[in-house]
Amino acid sequence: MLLKKVIAGIAVAYGRRRVAGLYPKGVVEALILRTWPVHEADQIVSFFTRDLGKLKGIAKSAAKSRRRFGGALEPMTHVLASYAEKPRQELVRLDACEIVASPLLDPVDYARAAALAFMAEVLEETLQDRDPQDAVFRLALAVLEQTRMGRIWLPVTYFSLWMVRLMGWMPEIGRCTDCGRLFAGGPAYFESQRDGLVCAEHRHPAARAISPESLVLAARIFRDPIAALAAEEWPRNRAADLRRFAVQNLERHLEKRLRSAQALRGMG
Ligand SMILES: [Zn+2]
Repeated sequence: MLLKKVIAGIAVAYGRRRVAGLYPKGVVEALILRTWPVHEADQIVSFFTRDLGKLKGIAKSAAKSRRRFGGALEPMTHVLASYAEKPRQELVRLDACEIVASPLLDPVDYARAAALAFMAEVLEETLQDRDPQDAVFRLALAVLEQTRMGRIWLPVTYFSLWMVRLMGWMPEIGRCTDCGRLFAGGPAYFESQRDGLVCAEHRHPAARAISPESLVLAARIFRDPIAALAAEEWPRNRAADLRRFAVQNLERHLEKRLRSAQALRGMG
């Protein structure tokens, strides 16, 4: 249904273009989030621009035109996007994308592909259209740079915790939401149905624990740039409790399951 409406909207946009004449044009720095095929060779592209926030555009003949889009529409590709738009039109026209950095230039295995898909899905689901989020953009670039084959768990953990925080959904991590007592070297507990961390005394029987080591890591993640943590070993079981906590928080606020998070969970 929705897709039909979108396609109809595109048809209208293209019909009017010749009549209405000029669109304001621009070039924006962006990260590609997702594409959907429409018509024969056209694609709708969701892309997160640094200056304008998330936009959706129609890339005409994207499947055919290697000159304008070759390889640039893969999720999490950092691009300079040339676009044109008309006031009050939801979809912009995406004319070309020049690759600044492509995640595909580095080797990709299943785990790295899953990490990239996770980042793209979280951005796609959390960001509102046309709502600039410069801090999120900078986070995404910093984390992408660290997402290498065999080294995905730090970037995924860092990214998920910071996304929760930048969306304003991160509870205080140092003390119990119920009694205010500091965790002070003890574990914290969280549940899927509520925000906040609680102490052992106020935990629900179904609550899961975050270890004292992971709480210390969370504090470091919020204090230090990702590069400062990258020299350490990050096997997949390190801070798995923090990742679960962050993903559960994202899913609760988005009111949906993140498919890519399940793929990551399947790996540990
Ligand atoms: Zn308490």
